[in-house]
Amino acid sequence: MRIVQKYGGSSLADIAKLQAAAQRISQLARQGTQVVVVVSAQGDTTDELIEKAKTVNPRGSAREMDAYLSAGEQLSASLMAMTLGAMGVPAVSLCGWQAGLLTDDVFGNARILGLKNDRILRELEKENVVVVAGFQGVSAGGDITTLGRGGSDTTAVALAAFLQADLCQIFTDVDGIYDRDPRRFPDAQRFSEISYEKMLRLIHNGAQVLHDRSVELAQAYDLKIEVLSSATGAPGTIVGP
Ligand code: ADP
Ligand code: ASP
Ligand code: MG
Repeated sequence: MRIVQKYGGSSLADIAKLQAAAQRISQLARQGTQVVVVVSAQGDTTDELIEKAKTVNPRGSAREMDAYLSAGEQLSASLMAMTLGAMGVPAVSLCGWQAGLLTDDVFGNARILGLKNDRILRELEKENVVVVAGFQGVSAGGDITTLGRGGSDTTAVALAAFLQADLCQIFTDVDGIYDRDPRRFPDAQRFSEISYEKMLRLIHNGAQVLHDRSVELAQAYDLKIEVLSSATGAPGTIVGP
């Protein structure tokens, strides 16, 4: 059994949340499941980094912005690997280029083209949990790229597709996909399942719960995504055919 689990920024916002996610991951790993974890930057880190970069240069080059912003996810990934280590679970963190996530060179909105090495598979064979920094990759020219805001979802789906995972779970701060933003509309209705097409329509109408490319990629690879709450882990919404 091979599972990809993605944890968003709010699900890792403080140490208690990070440890709760690590607990869930450790249970799976102890059962012998191969686990690839994709992490976002903690809390509002990406927004804070953008603000800080703007104070030194409001028009910093897109290349440098990507190099800078990618650090948020790298901090999360190594912190998660160390948290797992403290629980006695062997884990290794990889940033985008180490994982082999090849992208085009559109800085700030790069598209994933493929997985160009077998590092993740080798680490899984060594019985490591592999924690991959979301939202980033490397261009053919060797530059760090980022995938656009919310792009860690796409990292998770791409890895699930390339590694032929049995399950791709997106843990977030709501318990599934609703017909409207449940934070703004308390009477919003939750879906137990939603089609790719309907999900893409929700996203294009402003629902930023999933990165659009993650759904397009899942559809292209015929892969189901489960969106669920990191607070409870209760069954969420399946995005599928
Ligand atoms: P993460 O940090 O886990 O990536 P996001 O903030 O990107 O989380 O996405 C989760 C948020 O998406 C929720 O807090 C919710 O307010 C918002 N959201 C907007 N539209 C919807 C919807 N239709 N269904 C569920 N959540 C939605
Ligand atoms: N940290 C990035 C962002 O805030 C990517 C992500 O969270 O998916 O957009
Ligand atoms: Mg998100």
